[in-house]
Amino acid sequence: MAFTRATGKHRRTGRVHRTTARAAGVAALATTGVVGTLAAPALAAEPEVEQSGLTPVVTIGDSIADEVDAQAVAQKQAAADAAAREAAREAARERAAEAAKEAREAKERAAREAERKRLNTFVAPITASYVSTAYRAGSSLWSSGSHTGIDFHAAGGTSVHAVGVGTVVEAGWGGAYGNQVVIKMHDGTYTQYGHLSSIGVSVGQSVEPGQQIGLSGATGNVTGPHLHFEARTGPEYGSDMDPVAYLRSHGVHV
Ligand SMILES: [Zn+2]
Repeated sequence: MAFTRATGKHRRTGRVHRTTARAAGVAALATTGVVGTLAAPALAAEPEVEQSGLTPVVTIGDSIADEVDAQAVAQKQAAADAAAREAAREAARERAAEAAKEAREAKERAAREAERKRLNTFVAPITASYVSTAYRAGSSLWSSGSHTGIDFHAAGGTSVHAVGVGTVVEAGWGGAYGNQVVIKMHDGTYTQYGHLSSIGVSVGQSVEPGQQIGLSGATGNVTGPHLHFEARTGPEYGSDMDPVAYLRSHGVHV
């Protein structure tokens, strides 16, 4: 009991009171004549504690308590700082991820737009030319008796262009068409280019709008050099459609 100490700044005062009370108790015991072995060791021990320097112990204890308090405060602050730094890093990561996502989406949009533009770009097969023989014009030159395409005025050796994006499905001799190229367009239609003096593409090759596929000429059943151009729903002769309407529907002025 004598060694059970309350900690805190009022400890010394408390101890003094207890000592006084104990002394009174001992005095009371003394009057009964039962001063004995129980009380005596506790009483005897009290001065030793006092002499062993209670005040310095209390001072050190307070100092340690203050230090512990300071450490606790510092640790709490450090934890709060660490949490704040982590939150800031997380926010920065989220911003970076968001920016990367936006950049990726912008790039994808630009790519889609470029592809859409590429697929929708059409040009005339002969630059700065004109239609010299109309679609379905009658002539004894044609086996069907009717022109299945249009003729573009072109001197021999003029550059002939793919009118749009597509894949070459025929490149070679086409009988009455002479040297010809047939292209399957990206939308599933076909375009044909006849009477070429030379062919510059091969079957399976992809072509871009305006890409040169050969040179105009006078091969096949012709009276002079020009480009015979057809638009078709299929790759074969007889699936022709109005080439002027076809080109105009794709924005080409003919
Ligand atoms: Zn023709």
